[in-house]
Amino acid sequence: MSPTAAEVADRADRPAAPVRTVEFRVSRPQVVGPNRPQPPFPISLSGPVQHGFGRGGKDLGCPTANLPDESIIPLSTAVQPGVYYGYAQVLQPRKGSSELFPDDFKVFPMVMSLGWNPFFKNERLTAEIHIMHEFRSDFYGYDMRALVLGYIRPELDYTSREALIEDIETDKVVALNSLTRPEYQKHMQDPIFELKPS
Ligand code: ADP
Ligand code: MG
Repeated sequence: MSPTAAEVADRADRPAAPVRTVEFRVSRPQVVGPNRPQPPFPISLSGPVQHGFGRGGKDLGCPTANLPDESIIPLSTAVQPGVYYGYAQVLQPRKGSSELFPDDFKVFPMVMSLGWNPFFKNERLTAEIHIMHEFRSDFYGYDMRALVLGYIRPELDYTSREALIEDIETDKVVALNSLTRPEYQKHMQDPIFELKPS
């Protein structure tokens, strides 16, 4: 079995991510994983959205909400670094007003990267979640819940920004396709999410 992200993080000689090749791109499947989530999935994560490194996300057309370090332990101790898919929800604050629309608090498909983002030479293990929804505004500080249901691919190093963007776009399509299966869809009603009558 491949070492978990937490095990890799503990190594002094963390191996470099493999460089992404043209062969990898042309052979990418459009649906990944078994027909129903298999152990260790589902894995649930929760915590307030943190500021990340302030680079990458938005200028790649893919903002990624970061979870606090301690909240990613259930994931990082169970799986290898890589790109994952599942569902996520931003929670409505209990008090005070919010910049977001009521629709922004629904459960949406997400893609997540668990790792060191080799392209940006990150030093810290992070879990970054891109929620597949157009939000009305940023939601730093809001509580976020995520349910990780399957694995898409390893983290790769990229020789160009274009290649990275292209793979992120493919990840989004693969995640959406993979989540249309009924045994995945039913996790939108998972008890970790706050479901309000519509
Ligand atoms: P950072 O380096 O601070 O994580 P990003 O450029 O990755 O910056 O942007 C992430 C922020 O963008 C999130 O924390 C969130 O507030 C906001 N955001 C807006 N839309 C989305 C979305 N669809 N998915 C994730 N984050 C989003
Ligand atoms: Mg980010």
